[in-house]
Amino acid sequence: MDYQTLIAHYKRIIEISQQLTATYDLTALLRKIVSAAKELINTEAAAILLLDEASGQLRFAMSTNINFSEMEEIIVPLEGSIAGWIVTHGEPRVIENARQTSGHFQGVDHRISFETRNLLGVPMRTHQRVIGVVQAVNKRSNLSFTDEDIMTLQTLASQAAIAIENARLFQQSDFIAEMVHELRTPLSALKASTILLQHPNLPESKRADVITTMRNETERLIDLTSDFLDIARLESGRISINVAPCELYPLVAESVEIVQPQANQKHINIYVDDVNPIVRIDRSKTKQVILNLLTNAIKYNRPKGSIHVRMQPLEDNGDDFVQLTVADTGYGIAKEHQKNMFQKFYRVPTTENIERGTGLGLAICKHIVEAHGGRIWLESQEGVGSEFHITLPLHRPPAEDN
Ligand code: ADP
Repeated sequence: MDYQTLIAHYKRIIEISQQLTATYDLTALLRKIVSAAKELINTEAAAILLLDEASGQLRFAMSTNINFSEMEEIIVPLEGSIAGWIVTHGEPRVIENARQTSGHFQGVDHRISFETRNLLGVPMRTHQRVIGVVQAVNKRSNLSFTDEDIMTLQTLASQAAIAIENARLFQQSDFIAEMVHELRTPLSALKASTILLQHPNLPESKRADVITTMRNETERLIDLTSDFLDIARLESGRISINVAPCELYPLVAESVEIVQPQANQKHINIYVDDVNPIVRIDRSKTKQVILNLLTNAIKYNRPKGSIHVRMQPLEDNGDDFVQLTVADTGYGIAKEHQKNMFQKFYRVPTTENIERGTGLGLAICKHIVEAHGGRIWLESQEGVGSEFHITLPLHRPPAEDN
């Protein structure tokens, strides 16, 4: 690069860095980073993979050539992948001839019908740790990656890492504001109740009502605080998932037993498939997911309705999973609400006032299932019922030597 071009190039890097630090919207930020990487390194495509600390896996967070639904399904293991190598070594890596190098990206290419010829990947590092990888793929005009390219992408990646960390902190402070807001409603109700109770002329019958309100609001506070704690721990990656082989049927049966009294109150029957796959899961966290889905299937069911828990094997992304489904005969969820179901604090407006809830349960489920490398989704028809599906990794016993 001649002197003039070099100066123009660095000016552009500074300009992009300034744009990055001004963005708090994580998706918009990630989009800016990949398009900057593609432009500065002069490649056909670029992508960002972020590390999920709970599962120790990398996930595509943004790419110039893979769409969202495809990205969501691609999980890149730390071991045996180029991006994983970059994260664990904390160093850049150039793959000049991808066709002759074995790597996970061949599987990804196959899935998205794209051919990786060559690739430059660099770690995204904040002061304490590596949070992901930026990759520039297929240098244009059949050129090779230069030392200049490596330096440029490293500069971009370090700016990007800081901007991502800032956006995450910003989201966190948003969450705190929302949490405080949610706590205020039951607290105000409790305050109003204590004032009522102090009133000398309060009739005895009214007194009982006030005490019931106080008990309900206290229970709501307890639900809220324990859900807040769970989600905050899951989001910050402070919770680790400890997987071990586990029989699924007894776990489902135990969970059904816990919710049975609640189901009995509404005369709801619960049926469970008589199969017992062995999965590799964190037992207590998965139990929390199953309990949550069952509780919702009761809460949002009609009286005398039913619930089916189905378990069936499934191959997904080349790995073996079990698909566990909780199907109910309840209100169902209208199409326009379905996409929001796993967002924090989201509650369907039509059922909001019928049942007590925090709107955090499904967001917690999503975190836990994804930390296992699984997926969660739903199918639902208004007035007919809903099916919530999760996938859990099957346990594959080591092959016996004989
Ligand atoms: P919560 O039940 O505490 O409000 P969730 O995150 O578990 O929170 O669920 C979010 C919202 O999704 C609920 O408020 C309800 O509107 C809707 N929902 C969840 N499960 C079902 C279901 N099985 N059938 C119909 N609606 C459901």
